Amino acid sequence: MNTATRIPVLDLSCQLDPLLDDLSAAFGRVLRSCHYILGPEVAAFEGEAAAHLGAAHALGCNSGTDALVLALRALGVGPGDEVITTPFTFFATAEAVSAVGAVPVFVDIDPASLNLDPGGVAAAVTARTRALLPVHLFGRPCDMDALGAEADRHGLPVVEDCAQAFGARHRGRAVGTLGVLGCFSFFPTKNLSGFGDGGLVTAARPELAEAVRMLRAHGARRKYHNETLGYNSRLDELQAALLRVRLPHVEAWNAARVQAARGYGERLAGLPGVLAPEVVEGHVFNQYTIRIRAGNGCPGRDAVQAALAAEGVETMVYYPVPCHRLPVYARSHGKTACPAAEAACGEVLSLPFWPGIPTAVQDRVAEALGRAVRGGRA
Ligand SMILES: *Cc1c(COP(=O)(O)O)cnc(C)c1O
Repeated sequence: MNTATRIPVLDLSCQLDPLLDDLSAAFGRVLRSCHYILGPEVAAFEGEAAAHLGAAHALGCNSGTDALVLALRALGVGPGDEVITTPFTFFATAEAVSAVGAVPVFVDIDPASLNLDPGGVAAAVTARTRALLPVHLFGRPCDMDALGAEADRHGLPVVEDCAQAFGARHRGRAVGTLGVLGCFSFFPTKNLSGFGDGGLVTAARPELAEAVRMLRAHGARRKYHNETLGYNSRLDELQAALLRVRLPHVEAWNAARVQAARGYGERLAGLPGVLAPEVVEGHVFNQYTIRIRAGNGCPGRDAVQAALAAEGVETMVYYPVPCHRLPVYARSHGKTACPAAEAACGEVLSLPFWPGIPTAVQDRVAEALGRAVRGGRA
């Protein structure tokens, strides 16, 4: 077996090496400017990101988690309110709802897309529901037609968690512009990534943008005239300058991700127990996540992951536990049942994946996976 070189689950160097000179120049420009917080780089990046996405407004902040908190606060979501979201997501989605004092209400996923099932929304709406918070998981846009129709029927705003989906599109429109607010993360693993933490809120309406602008700066529209309890949540000038170097490349990287996803799809076709993700229009594949079903000789996800690790192929389980089953929500959400999300948590496996992943690497992963799902039998 070929264990010569370890295959990492993510290799960021191809998004770094070709731009190193430009990144260094941007870095030096900010250092010499002596202006490090909310200066011209952040303003320029906000304008460029808004133009790129087709968003009316865009505001930088500290992280994707803060983007969610700021968006919910801008809508006035707080104690006593409920927000409908998916249990199959990174914890930050639910955490943000809890952080503003509201209660996340988990609606099960559609097993084909792994995204919030619009068909489950109506039954979860109560008099306390204040917003819908869908997540474009792994870069796949949610069914925004159906979710938008549900939101309209119940008079609810939609806040999009776009942390994994910068550049994803639904019917040609960028995610983050389909609801009233969109929340992005520039964590290093995301499709548009910075060099540390960073986030962005897109807003459809000026009053929501103003609220986010105020909340990210200690609740002050005018410095030292604080109107409400806010946050210290700004995007650094350094991060903004570096993100401005990467932003013009994100569409090409997303296209390379789609190409790599198609490449895996061809290689994995017919493997027993393996379900590959669909390549739907507008998907930007932040992760390439397959499902592995035990049976017909296939030993199941955990055994397959262990067999791949033994061959030097690193994989990840995003996510092993649905939010409603996390210890933090055991007491409050113990009675919640989301069988499709629970099943997904037992079957998903994210393969080594990045824009420009060499085809030879994909060959090796597919071959190792083929051996693993056959339980070591040829
Ligand atoms: C990464 C992520 C977040 C949080 O973003 P940070 O920048 O890490 O705070 C929120 N939601 C989802 C779905 C994410 O993947």
